[in-house]
Amino acid sequence: MAAPNTSQKMKAVRWHPPSFDIRVESIPVPKIQDDDDAIVKVSLAALCGSDLHIYRGHGGVDKIHTCGHEFIGEIVELGPNYGAHSQGRPALYSSLKLGDKVVSPFTVNCGECNVCRMGYTCRCPLGALFGSPALEGGQAQYVRVPKAGGTLFNLSDSQSWPSGLSAEMKHKALAGLTDSSLLMLADILPTGVFAALQAMNHPKVLPALTGRPWPANFFPGDASITMLPEDRVLTFAIIGLGPVGLCASVSLLDMLAAQPLPFQVIAIDPVDSRREKAMAVYSEIDQAGKGTGKFVTYDIDDARKAVEASTGGVGCTAVLEIVGNPSAISLAYDLVRPFGAIISVGVHGAPPMPFTGRQLYNKNISFDFGRCPARAMFPMAFDLLVKRQDVFGAVGGPGSLVDRIVGPDEAPEMYKAFDQSKVGKVVFDMWK
Ligand SMILES: [Zn+2]
Ligand SMILES: [Zn+2]
Repeated sequence: MAAPNTSQKMKAVRWHPPSFDIRVESIPVPKIQDDDDAIVKVSLAALCGSDLHIYRGHGGVDKIHTCGHEFIGEIVELGPNYGAHSQGRPALYSSLKLGDKVVSPFTVNCGECNVCRMGYTCRCPLGALFGSPALEGGQAQYVRVPKAGGTLFNLSDSQSWPSGLSAEMKHKALAGLTDSSLLMLADILPTGVFAALQAMNHPKVLPALTGRPWPANFFPGDASITMLPEDRVLTFAIIGLGPVGLCASVSLLDMLAAQPLPFQVIAIDPVDSRREKAMAVYSEIDQAGKGTGKFVTYDIDDARKAVEASTGGVGCTAVLEIVGNPSAISLAYDLVRPFGAIISVGVHGAPPMPFTGRQLYNKNISFDFGRCPARAMFPMAFDLLVKRQDVFGAVGGPGSLVDRIVGPDEAPEMYKAFDQSKVGKVVFDMWK
């Protein structure tokens, strides 16, 4: 827990341009650069689907940098702005201590501006993405966290965030969770919850949820029109069953199970092993967490047929698009119903959207695009993490989310295997 000797070197997983070049290197331990900084000694860091955009050379960057935006560890150094004199700023500026266990969202946010106050933390003007040319990443033994008092979560202080759980349950749960499980809070679990929450709360989903046809949820409705029971079957598609797609599935099922309507979730991926994983995860979830609806997996062609057949040709109530490439977004367009919602949390690259304004007009489609405000989503994600330890607790089982924990020296091989969909979620033990 002693502050790192900054003349010391550390191990870091580094990306080299132009593409497919990951090296494990010895570089200087980071120093405090700004009074709001903290230095975290990283215990575990994870490999994520969005690391692959840079890995493949699609990130539009050419600067060598340390990879990774998902990490958990302990505070080993704090800038001068930490302590009792910082009352009135985000609470961690006065409460964070050396030795506290912390998890970081994948982007920095100040917690003090209009954007942060609104809960849109991933778009803080002072924000930066870890593991990008703008900010060195967390796949290293130490990482510098700018604006740490606005960014981090203090896992050593269970009272420092709100929860739907009782204080006693929260404290007890926290003591029992492994670091590899808590690491899911850095990105993939909040992102999955974000996708599901946006879909379930979309105004276009309201008619089915409430049984009141448009626009009766906002204005006295036409009493002569009655929706039939079959109009209210919720059909959601999830495109992409990598780790975030699995988190979105688990989260959506949890939300659907809590409402009284029949539903089906059509989970889509062209890779057989990913579909098998999704079914294994589904079978781990208890009845309370998946309700009495249907959860089925298909490849792309069969998914088209299944949506067509099961909705009488109408289409899905909403589609959760987790991939971010043109073919995934085209598929989402094809599968969604008229007046449907597409929730896209996949990271998009340079190609333009694969449809015209006229096509969007002709289907009255709503889009919610973009990065998860992980800092804001953390409390909801934490509660789900506690509830779903059947999926998020273990490592390496058929129905567990984390596939394996390896040392950083295996990073080049793991990037390659993950890029080729040969492994699921990989976690690096930075000191192994
Ligand atoms: Zn990630
Ligand atoms: Zn901010």
